Amino acid sequence: MSRDFRPAPEHRRIVFLTGAGLSARTGLGQFRGPGGLWRLEPELEAAMHGSALPASLPLLWRVWGRMARIAAAHGPTPGHLAIARLGAPVITQNIDGLHQAAGSADVSELHGSALRAVCLDGCCDWSIPLSPGEGDRAEDHGAPAQCPVCGAPTRPDVVLFDEQLPGAAIDRSLRLAREAELFVVVGTSGAVLPAARLAPLAREAGARTVLIDIDPPPAAGLRGVFDEVIRADCHDVLPSWERARRGVADNPFLHPF
Ligand SMILES: [Zn+2]
Repeated sequence: MSRDFRPAPEHRRIVFLTGAGLSARTGLGQFRGPGGLWRLEPELEAAMHGSALPASLPLLWRVWGRMARIAAAHGPTPGHLAIARLGAPVITQNIDGLHQAAGSADVSELHGSALRAVCLDGCCDWSIPLSPGEGDRAEDHGAPAQCPVCGAPTRPDVVLFDEQLPGAAIDRSLRLAREAELFVVVGTSGAVLPAARLAPLAREAGARTVLIDIDPPPAAGLRGVFDEVIRADCHDVLPSWERARRGVADNPFLHPF
């Protein structure tokens, strides 16, 4: 365990892999856990499978629209902002658009985005950005109900439980992992996919691998995956990295993230 690790000058190519923990303080942390939205609405769990389409569309529009509005209302966290200011590419399991809102230009969304509509026909590549609202129709979120190209229903571009991850995002993630000099996992367990695959890949390709987690899983599960495990709040750690890289004194009074 190390709290003092910081990127070194030779770590020019930093790549982040992020998960739900990074967005937890926006209120989205309540989405899945005890007392969370899924617990309040048990039928939602069933609707989160591709096999429930298209009957599940009204529920998906309502739930992902609400989730996207919660995220947008809160805005990016100190961790999101620090990652963007470090100029590092991001691989994310999050669908809340907060990396883009923070200013990150290179974001690979492994689970899609609640801020985009796509066509229900998997062979049709129509898509548009959404303006999430309130309601269970596509129109409530700024999308037409039918795809203007092929006429199929539209849907939120969120990957459901039994659906494949988007190939382009997977390919980009694998390339980023191989090219990284420092591979940093934040807000997701290092022991589950895709972190369990990407972090070892980055390490084999020569990267130093780091997990930032306020309550990391038992060390045995991390051995062989991470060179450094930082047991701390990512919203403290990442801004301190960003300040150090800019050569600014690490004074939280001057930089009250
Ligand atoms: Zn279409």
